[in-house]
Amino acid sequence: MHVDVVPVGDVSARVKREASKGLRTVYDCEVSMHEPQPIPTGAYDADRDQYRAEEFIDLAQRIGSGEKNIAVTPQDLYYRRRNYVFGLAYLSGSGSVISTHRLQTSSDGGFSNRSASDIFGDRVRKEVVHEIGHTLGLEHCDNERCVMKFSPTVREVDVKEQSLCGSCATQVT
Ligand SMILES: [Zn+2]
Ligand SMILES: [Zn+2]
Repeated sequence: MHVDVVPVGDVSARVKREASKGLRTVYDCEVSMHEPQPIPTGAYDADRDQYRAEEFIDLAQRIGSGEKNIAVTPQDLYYRRRNYVFGLAYLSGSGSVISTHRLQTSSDGGFSNRSASDIFGDRVRKEVVHEIGHTLGLEHCDNERCVMKFSPTVREVDVKEQSLCGSCATQVT
């Protein structure tokens, strides 16, 4: 499988590196890094001061060169009635997106002795692996440790691992 990462807006080298690393660690895939893209016109919702996640997925799908494509952006995303999303993908689609905007916030858990920077890197990898999992047909998993567990807060992201549980892994390999 070939996954193309599409940076949208001002994405740091660190984030690009973590995204590729996460994907390569968990999936049997090649990862390419697309040329940085401007934020899609029409994605901004002035009432909410947020961006529509769907527009980023459409962009990744349209211009990505992979079988699976993931937009990565620092912009704050939302989807339908949800206040925000860390990422979004359509089940078995070719496009997906993650936002690093809310991954920078500190966890209220305090159960880890890792540095804030390491925790941020972990979150980026987990979110990318999670969204690509959806594009491979995986739905949310009940296993607390599985990367496919639904995690609407950073604390829940921090609790889960970067990898697929045995049951999810057998579905994609
Ligand atoms: Zn999900
Ligand atoms: Zn699982």
